[in-house]
Amino acid sequence: MIVKASNMIEILLLEDESADAYLVKLALREAQVLANLHHVVDGQEGLDFLHKTEKYADTPRPDLIFLDLNMPRMNGYEFMTSIKTNPSFKDIPIIVLTTSDVEKDVVSSYELGAASYVTKPVDMTQFISAIRQIGEYWFTLVRLPRGEKI
Ligand SMILES: [Mg+2]
Repeated sequence: MIVKASNMIEILLLEDESADAYLVKLALREAQVLANLHHVVDGQEGLDFLHKTEKYADTPRPDLIFLDLNMPRMNGYEFMTSIKTNPSFKDIPIIVLTTSDVEKDVVSSYELGAASYVTKPVDMTQFISAIRQIGEYWFTLVRLPRGEKI
């Protein structure tokens, strides 16, 4: 399956574990999801990316955000709280991608405005399959807000 959008999909990934970020990158490639993946390591850096602060001055507005919950400096909850109360960014769908399957994390994420909550499968084949399904759903089925880029 090749997922091809008229414009390349821009994904912002917030993930403090470089091994996990690499797996996401690998899974996107294996699943043949055509997307530009931008990786930052915590919520603060994610906000800097969105606000185009300093080294992020030339970054695109993400179409989707993949969000880890447990990160130093600013965690996924704090990041979501900030994004979902900001009129400029609250329309960007956030997919929580985490190892946690704790019920309160699921509930809290949806309460804060997450569009999806995916527990990272431990097995790589399953993980690629999960990323492929995310790709099929978000990049072919769902119409994303492709408003004016800021
Ligand atoms: Mg983490």
